[in-house]
Amino acid sequence: MAERRKYKKRYCKYCEAKIDFIDYKDTNSLKHSMSERYKIMPRRLTGNCKRHQEMISNAIKRARQAALVPYTVTRKIVVANPFESIVS
Ligand SMILES: [Zn+2]
Repeated sequence: MAERRKYKKRYCKYCEAKIDFIDYKDTNSLKHSMSERYKIMPRRLTGNCKRHQEMISNAIKRARQAALVPYTVTRKIVVANPFESIVS
């Protein structure tokens, strides 16, 4: 049971850093709460508290509207990127 857990500790990173506001323009920090296909990670995996998870999801949705973060990643794009590094 305990050894099967993928994510070590369950604590809110944002509470630890005492962040009151999450900027939607700061896409690098938003990426921590997104999967590799830019889906919002559920709270049970990231361990964020409810308050911060709502702030993150709002920020990600705003960033999507502003085209800073893609809504979805199609298979082509995911496959195409590794090939570029192989060719060059
Ligand atoms: Zn928190």
